[in-house]
Amino acid sequence: MTAMLTDLLTHAPWTTAPDSFAVDLLQFCSTDKRVIRSKMRSGYGSPRDSLQAWATRFDLFILFDEDGYFFVADDASDAVHARDLDRSNHPHECEFGDLLGYPPCCYKSVASVGEENIDALATLQLAWEFDGQFQLIDTKSYTSGQSLICHLPCTPNCKPSLDLALAALTCLQLMQPHDRVFLTTV
Ligand SMILES: [Zn+2]
Repeated sequence: MTAMLTDLLTHAPWTTAPDSFAVDLLQFCSTDKRVIRSKMRSGYGSPRDSLQAWATRFDLFILFDEDGYFFVADDASDAVHARDLDRSNHPHECEFGDLLGYPPCCYKSVASVGEENIDALATLQLAWEFDGQFQLIDTKSYTSGQSLICHLPCTPNCKPSLDLALAALTCLQLMQPHDRVFLTTV
């Protein structure tokens, strides 16, 4: 899967996809994550075309919504399911988190406060201290593409999150050093 990640990262349209998409792709290639949900940068022409061409090139299914979000999956039904859940007014944190490959302890933590409060949860986590190896699950730099996981961990010592981070790290370490402009601080 390492060669695949290198190709996906190298050819992704970075003027359209956000930097954080690199982290999503890393998790997609190194874990059981089935769907990526991301949001297009704004202000560029034909952004869907470049993302669609990239997905087609790698035999991935991509789906767009009217708010600039896009969903990438191997399986079209997973992307459709994620898009429909995302639109739903009913609580869907657990089902959505499962599709996106997040640990149950972490998506249940989000569910307990409600998805609408996820930004406040992220702000709270800015004050967290991560000890030792658990520094690998710190997502402060997710938006700049320099994180190993793409979800908010439930605690600063969440073991399932660490397992996902270690899987991503192993995948990164197998990549050639010149392969990537993102993820360079790991
Ligand atoms: Zn957790």
